[in-house]
Amino acid sequence: MHAPRSPLLVIYTGGTLGMVETPHGLSPGGHFEPRLREALNTLPPTRRASLPDFDFIATPSPIDSSSATPADWQALAALIEDHQQAYAGIIILHGTDTLSWTASSLAFQLQGIDKPVVVTGAMHPLEAAGSDALANVEGALRFAALPELQEVALYFAGRLLRGVRARKWQTQADDAFISPNYPLLGELVDNAAVLYPGRGLAEHQRGALRFELADYRTLGPSPVVRLALWPGMTARQLGALLLDDTVKGALLEVWGGGNIADDPALIEVLAQARGEGKLVAAISQCPQGHIEIGAYAAGKGLMSAEVLSGDDMTPEAVMTKLIHLLAQPMSDTDRRRHFLTNLVGER
Ligand code: ASP
Repeated sequence: MHAPRSPLLVIYTGGTLGMVETPHGLSPGGHFEPRLREALNTLPPTRRASLPDFDFIATPSPIDSSSATPADWQALAALIEDHQQAYAGIIILHGTDTLSWTASSLAFQLQGIDKPVVVTGAMHPLEAAGSDALANVEGALRFAALPELQEVALYFAGRLLRGVRARKWQTQADDAFISPNYPLLGELVDNAAVLYPGRGLAEHQRGALRFELADYRTLGPSPVVRLALWPGMTARQLGALLLDDTVKGALLEVWGGGNIADDPALIEVLAQARGEGKLVAAISQCPQGHIEIGAYAAGKGLMSAEVLSGDDMTPEAVMTKLIHLLAQPMSDTDRRRHFLTNLVGER
């Protein structure tokens, strides 16, 4: 007889929450499963008893997430695909520095997910005095046990955010993440996980697996670049990054509601990139709100260079979506159409 399957799976990838002091500073520590189980046993008995049971695995070499690359996002999605069928929900323990990037990438790779995938981390190591690590893992476990949650979400400091809408906003404070253009999916209230009605993914976006596990490594180490305009930026400076042969796409962070300097040479570089088949998408440098390309005369150049509107997406969502679409066997027209479509609640 097989023992009944554990309902949840915790995947440890590294990050501050599992780190230990070394002579070189904080570094990812090992043996995280016994350390975590021991910490959970220190919770008040009723709270401990109401937590769902879980199995635990770790990635082969847990890292500081500041070193994560698209290949890590790909490996993590593959690991989730391998295991997800046996579990009712997945929790990813991850460093906070690039947590929103991993969450965004997972959302595009795990399209149609029919169960909770909750990513979390902590600003302090599990064993540090006053650490937020145990509370974040506890909250993530509670949300990952809710079958109504069918998307990649980010849990931090009592709040559940849509993963592909989240951003790290604080370097020190415990409530380090925000979701600037989308309301909270849920909150922990009196230690109970509460999902707000009507905020989950639309029915056609969830509940029927259509994972897209592309091979990001075929694109080269850094196929998409991130370019924020600054006053006085020259066409030569823009071209140096954008027209590089290894670059297949770019995120352009423009002014306000969708503007760029009235400089024909800048627009010429964008048009040349487009002519070379690169996928260029724009969002605002303002953290809140969306862009409308062409509303001002100062945005018309973006239109003529066929720059795609990223609407109100986060930089993380645009970059991971461009990489994802570039890795799909699709025509340029389909890539552009998919970019403008709301696939997983990202826009
Ligand atoms: N550098 C760490 C990481 O992202 C920071 C953290 O986890 O808070 O792995």
